[in-house]
Amino acid sequence: MASSIAQLAQDLRARKTSAVELAQAALARARARADLNAFITLDEAGALATAQRAEGRFANGSLAGIPFAHKDIFCTHGVRTTCASRMLENFVPPYDAGVVEHLRDVYAVSIGKTNMDEFAMGSSSENSHFGAVKNPWDVTRVPGGSSGGSAAAVAAGIVPFATGTDSGGSVRQPAAFCGITGLKPTYGRVSRFGMIAYASSLDCAGVLARSAQDCMYVLSAMAGHDPRDATSVARALDNYNAELSTTLQGIKIGIAREYFGAGVEPGVAAAVRAALAQYEKLGATLVDVSLPNAHLAIPAYYVIAPAEASSNLARYDGVRYGHRCADPQSLEDLYTRSRGEGFGAEVKRRILVGTYALSAGYYDAYYLRAQRARRVIANDFDEAFKQVDLIAGPTTPTVAFKLGEKTADPLAMYAADVNTVAVNLAGLPAISIPAGFSENLPVGLQLIAPAFAESRLLAAAHQFQSATDWHTREPRA
Ligand code: GLN
Repeated sequence: MASSIAQLAQDLRARKTSAVELAQAALARARARADLNAFITLDEAGALATAQRAEGRFANGSLAGIPFAHKDIFCTHGVRTTCASRMLENFVPPYDAGVVEHLRDVYAVSIGKTNMDEFAMGSSSENSHFGAVKNPWDVTRVPGGSSGGSAAAVAAGIVPFATGTDSGGSVRQPAAFCGITGLKPTYGRVSRFGMIAYASSLDCAGVLARSAQDCMYVLSAMAGHDPRDATSVARALDNYNAELSTTLQGIKIGIAREYFGAGVEPGVAAAVRAALAQYEKLGATLVDVSLPNAHLAIPAYYVIAPAEASSNLARYDGVRYGHRCADPQSLEDLYTRSRGEGFGAEVKRRILVGTYALSAGYYDAYYLRAQRARRVIANDFDEAFKQVDLIAGPTTPTVAFKLGEKTADPLAMYAADVNTVAVNLAGLPAISIPAGFSENLPVGLQLIAPAFAESRLLAAAHQFQSATDWHTREPRA
């Protein structure tokens, strides 16, 4: 079985292995599983250099010497950062993202950059300039998206954890599809500095790992105030480690009936209900709750996210950095051909939708209404959290779908996020944990908490994982 972060840290301390050895082994596994297409760039030289610096700094529970991978959306100084786009195919950032700095400060060893949907737009990691990522449980299926490379790399045992970003589900949904644990913190808890912008009011850095305990170690290192990100919150971190052992006695879990709607496969619902029964056994009380505006989440998200994307992606103009067309004939020609060649189909679709929603004639009809929907969705959560400590339901309505199954139907693809996007609209923290199987594929249980209650989420996930073994299941190599 793949080792936990705690186990690896212990082995390092006991000198059973070295950081260089761990990095080399992770790189070898990444190469051996090239069929998954989980990585865009492997950084052997950088990994070995960091590993050498990590030697002698090991401590229990620390990330020093632990190999991992960054989603290729985080700017890494001197290491190509593509966001899976032709636009940034040769972009080498001159600086590090805040998250990258934080993890390097504790001597965690990045072995490379993971594949994803272009500019984090997608739910299957098929929208990549570098080709689709495969699900380690069944290579004919998608790993979810947009952080699909990170999820596949963790699920296949290549690295114990990987960073991701979640604007509408991109950490939780691939975690669910790949049978691992995925944490999306509260908006503002983790720096967005140097994280390539998709939809700035929704974008949130997160972590994909095998267990809640491993997520806890990574969050503790990743999170914190960053003055370079104006939405980053100046609030002390909780002691996530100390609070992990909080039991479920007296915890009220709200079962959101809307999350078990018509599109939810019976096998998924059954696995999630069984997991919730386990929660009851562990001392939690299950309470029915309602989120009456849940049906507005997908339409509101798919107006707001493209609107923000259309604005954020205006910076790729072929002038300062990124793809530039050959022989531009005029400034207009430079803009249109550079963008036309650099962006893929889904990115273009979102730029068109977003520009339309923000245009003078349609702003009130679309953007403003979507913002109102966002408010009532957030209010639903506020109301529900007056009665319960956590809200639970299936992370995704289905198990991992087949490669190519939804690529011709954008709306079907968008529906994969029906249970995740509301959380981003409300800025809340949430976690997806392995809850069982349906059709031999992993099923994820999503737990949602009030803002900044990451420790409550992590503890509730950890208590479940201490009593069950779903999170230890691994796909056959
Ligand atoms: N699948 C959603 C989208 O395509 C969410 C993506 C994300 O969280 N980055 O926008």
